[in-house]
Amino acid sequence: MIKLKSKREIKVMREAGQIVASVLVMLEKAIKAGITTAMLDKIAEKEIRKHRAEPAFLGYHNFPASICTSINEQVVHGIPGLRRLEEGDIISIDVGVRLGGYYSDAAATFPVGAVNGKARKLIDVTRISLQKAIEAMRAGAKLSDISHAVQDYVEKNSFAVVRNYVGHGIGQEMHEEPQVPNFGLPGRGPVLQPGIVLAIEPMVNIGTWEVHLLEDQWTVVTADGSLSAHFEHTVALGENGFEILTSSNLG
Ligand code: MG
Repeated sequence: MIKLKSKREIKVMREAGQIVASVLVMLEKAIKAGITTAMLDKIAEKEIRKHRAEPAFLGYHNFPASICTSINEQVVHGIPGLRRLEEGDIISIDVGVRLGGYYSDAAATFPVGAVNGKARKLIDVTRISLQKAIEAMRAGAKLSDISHAVQDYVEKNSFAVVRNYVGHGIGQEMHEEPQVPNFGLPGRGPVLQPGIVLAIEPMVNIGTWEVHLLEDQWTVVTADGSLSAHFEHTVALGENGFEILTSSNLG
């Protein structure tokens, strides 16, 4: 069942989302060659707690950190540790926050210093695919219109959409119904209504869409070792259209 949110609930999720956004802005500034992903995790946890919120991922199914840090061929759910970022890497960071009983969730992929043209294009295409998905989130549209918008844009740019991991409803639980795949035909699934809140999160690979799980049972990597990017926003549908609750431009 899809739980539609009231204006009051969306207000709380917006507050949580603004903390997520501020953490991502802070991490973007901190990313440079030589920093460890554990240091990024520390920065994030401190910022989240400063706002009297909780890091949503810490302890989630025993995940040991406040953020996920996924470098290069790592798709999602990378565990922060002692690995140091290197010039030319790309890093995907996923941040989740719980505030006042509600969750918000967002992710972005950042270059470490100068990256090659293919990596730059992957980041741009993935970011724009999320924007296309968000623009498909209109009252009266169907859920799979969002999915189709991602796949259509990504495949026109000759990249591949990860199938095994999907976006999700979000609210009092981090993962609620419905699942939001990043692929599929348009015009399927439930009709989108005001009050729906979704975490939309395209994961895009340069090579094959197929992925593997590493032995740590968390880190997802591309099956062919090609680079992967990930962008995510928590988005509410209101009476007057969508609102990106995790936007860093809300002010
Ligand atoms: Mg998510």
